[in-house]
Amino acid sequence: MRKLFTHIAAIHGIENNPQPMLKGEEMAHVNSLKNAWLLIEDGKFAGWGTMDLDPLPTADDSVSLTGLEILPGLVDSHTHCIFAEPRSAEWEMRLKGATYEEIAAAGGGILNSAAKLRSMDEEWLYEQSLWRVQRMIEHGSTTIEIKSGYGLRTESELKMLRIARRIGQNVNATIKTTFLGAHAVPPEFKGRQDDYVEHILNEMLPAVCGEGLADHMDVFCDRGFFTAEQTLRLLEAAAKLGLPAKIHANELGITGGVQVAASAGAWSADHLEHIGDEEIECLRNSEVMPVGLPGTSYFLDIPYTPAREIIGAGLPFALASDFNPGSSPVCSLQMVWSLGCSRMKMLPAEAFNAISLNAARSLRLENTTGSIAVGKQADFWTTETRNALQSVPYFFGVNHAKDVYLKGTKN
Ligand SMILES: [Zn+2]
Repeated sequence: MRKLFTHIAAIHGIENNPQPMLKGEEMAHVNSLKNAWLLIEDGKFAGWGTMDLDPLPTADDSVSLTGLEILPGLVDSHTHCIFAEPRSAEWEMRLKGATYEEIAAAGGGILNSAAKLRSMDEEWLYEQSLWRVQRMIEHGSTTIEIKSGYGLRTESELKMLRIARRIGQNVNATIKTTFLGAHAVPPEFKGRQDDYVEHILNEMLPAVCGEGLADHMDVFCDRGFFTAEQTLRLLEAAAKLGLPAKIHANELGITGGVQVAASAGAWSADHLEHIGDEEIECLRNSEVMPVGLPGTSYFLDIPYTPAREIIGAGLPFALASDFNPGSSPVCSLQMVWSLGCSRMKMLPAEAFNAISLNAARSLRLENTTGSIAVGKQADFWTTETRNALQSVPYFFGVNHAKDVYLKGTKN
């Protein structure tokens, strides 16, 4: 099946020579083509060119996109979009002066989410979570990673991951799952953190892998959560069971998370609001993709990941939403794109590459999505917004996506 899109005002994010990722100064460049056609064959990109080609390629179906621009599908590599309820009451507590850590210490935060999720009916949780994923897709996200971590006991973690897999079977977007049993210590293990780590190693991790429910393993390695030593143990055990590592690191302080990520061969180290020269040097000597989550910094009013230092060091850099009810209730990568520019001083092109190709790389999906390249999945979205590469992050708070195509099919 060949489908030809014609009269496209501009196509952005084209790769003639596909790269696994973009580093340093490369991130400021995006290939675009004006007055173009785009050919899709069997759900994959098959070619493009300008409208002055005569004759245009033959196809089974032809669609004119006059006045529209096209961007590749966005990749949200870090979300917690399966949750029972919003935490807007805690947000109001924070507005009155309580800190995130104080709320967590008072039984709120992740533990609040865990208590609600454990008791929630699986069908209802599925419906709620699917609704959120559909909103993300409507905003141009065509690949979405979903973490567990609000169950914090075996059956509830399995419930979350089964729901994530089921969502993956019922939407055309690409869904990847991550086991995050080490998100917090549940109340029944209070004061016995090492015992909970053993419990994850001996019971939860084998159960998750036994059902084939996770594509990666993640640990919240930070002050007040899991230590660098515990994190390394957990990630090494997961690697033996075939699960590659991702990590929450350095959100609350410099806690050795980046070094652990490098030792464990993690695919990404996410957050990194607090990093110094040692962490940058460590990243330079690794294959770990640094990932910033500006929605979290915005919503918690904490420092932003130093994108300029990371890119200035010649490193690649990705951005994700961290969509979750406590610290980043944002489902739109268009908004993340805007925050990357306005708050982290990234250029529009840099932040765009951070939510497309580099984000795909952080999931090791750079060969199948993240840009418009021959043979990649035809994941893309159209917009009526002219000069989209600048205008989408500039006009923030608006959904600029008109139609979203997943593997060549309109959502
Ligand atoms: Zn997170």
